[in-house]
Amino acid sequence: VPSLDDLADCFSGRLLTAAEDMAPFLTDWRDLWRGSALAVVQPDSADDVASVVRWCAARGIAIVPQGGNTGMSGGATPEPGANAIILSLARMNRIRTIDGIDNVIVVDAGCILHTVQQAAEDAGRFFPLSLGAEGSCTIGGNLATNAGGTGVLRYGSARDLCLGMEVVTAQGLLWDGLRRLRKDSSGYDLRDLFIGSEGTLGIITGAVMRLYPSPAARATALVAVPSIEAALELFDAVRNRLDTALTAFEFLSENCLSLVLDHRPDLRRPIQQPSPWYLLVELSDLQTADGIRDVLESLLATAFEQDLIVDAAIAETVAQARDFWAIREGIAEAQGRVGKTIKHDIAVPVSRVPAFLSEADAAIGARWPDVRFVTFGHLGDGNIHYNFSPPDGGDQQAFLAQQQPINQVVHDIVVRHGGTISAEHGLGQLRNREIARYKSPIEIELMRQVKQALDPQGLMNPGKLLP
Ligand SMILES: Cc1cc2nc3c(=O)[nH]c(=O)nc-3n(C[C@H](O)[C@H](O)[C@H](O)COP(=O)(O)OP(=O)(O)OC[C@H]3O[C@@H](n4cnc5c(N)ncnc54)[C@H](O)[C@@H]3O)c2cc1C
Repeated sequence: VPSLDDLADCFSGRLLTAAEDMAPFLTDWRDLWRGSALAVVQPDSADDVASVVRWCAARGIAIVPQGGNTGMSGGATPEPGANAIILSLARMNRIRTIDGIDNVIVVDAGCILHTVQQAAEDAGRFFPLSLGAEGSCTIGGNLATNAGGTGVLRYGSARDLCLGMEVVTAQGLLWDGLRRLRKDSSGYDLRDLFIGSEGTLGIITGAVMRLYPSPAARATALVAVPSIEAALELFDAVRNRLDTALTAFEFLSENCLSLVLDHRPDLRRPIQQPSPWYLLVELSDLQTADGIRDVLESLLATAFEQDLIVDAAIAETVAQARDFWAIREGIAEAQGRVGKTIKHDIAVPVSRVPAFLSEADAAIGARWPDVRFVTFGHLGDGNIHYNFSPPDGGDQQAFLAQQQPINQVVHDIVVRHGGTISAEHGLGQLRNREIARYKSPIEIELMRQVKQALDPQGLMNPGKLLP
């Protein structure tokens, strides 16, 4: 075991080694993985990060970067028995600057997403990345997983929002790539390489993120639809008419709605008559506060006449809109309360969603007739959280034992429809072996060569992302 003394001297009060102090860092929020580490180091600056990485590189010690530890794929949890430290970016939480003309916010990687949203709002701008974990997840984690969330339809994923980046390389060198350029074709895009790399190529220490004008008004509706086909017809019509004013097109099944309502007595069922599917549709307007609600109402009235929807509730107040979003965002937590879950974070081309769902539902239903389907997601992005819960009162372990064959059935169908097995959560240690089945050998080999070039010692988050 290497001595941590010299590290402890430099990081006095910022180096955790006691088991009880390290415990929260050694597991994920779903408690699916447990790992071990020599220590948790909490740097304050990019230079601190560089010196920790150099210290580790000289001793062959692996580094597991961790932001808010809200990831879904076990990427921030070290492997059991690892000769590794956890590098927590939590103390690196400064908003460095906001520039109106460049329309950017420059932040430390450990900034909590909500803090960034708030800083943008305080400056009269809008930072559109938004996800259920925004009160805890960090910009560094968002970039490392290429996070998506509910604003992708209009504003894109973390990748689309990032203009520049500061990174500590696996050798402990600081690369200042904090550019603010919309246009740059001066060679390989290293920023894009680090986005989605899940800590396996280097440590993101800072980022330049794009800002947008704040919408003056929003209109939100919960809509009951008879089928996914009808939902997509509505999606096509609304997007074609309103383009960027359509800012969210989310979906959930009746199973999801009742699951959330069972666990959230503060929320009420917005539409009385149960329906197989619901949409959460949001329009945003930069111009007028009045017009946008009328537009939504008239769109829904037309859709009703065309039998595309069976009912709709338009939020009358901001609080009601928040409740609709609380239903959509409460699904993950409510599902966690009814037992262990088998999750999928898949995406297919939007046009293939109905075919995917009908094939996958049939295949799963035939082999595992008792599992509970918990299907929801970002319909406008083709990103489905195709999840399962154990049958009521069912044996949890027996259910979880089916994870691997269930994954394979689902993912084979996904890939047949031109999709991906990870749309926004990353591969981590959840899907890093499975990916070998779905990417071509040449793609896996190119990924390996990138890893070898940037991290020849293999010390950056080992056992993650790559098979
Ligand atoms: C309730 C809930 C809802 C969620 N909803 C969504 C959603 O809608 N969309 C979505 O995309 N995700 C969602 N997530 C997943 C999660 O919030 C995201 O993956 C988020 O981007 C992770 O950020 P984090 O700071 O917590 O990263 P962590 O969990 O700490 O780390 C995630 C990965 O990034 C690496 N990493 C972290 N920081 C750095 C860094 N500075 N440099 C290099 N690598 C780093 C880690 O090593 C790990 O591999 C949700 C999670 C929860 C709990």
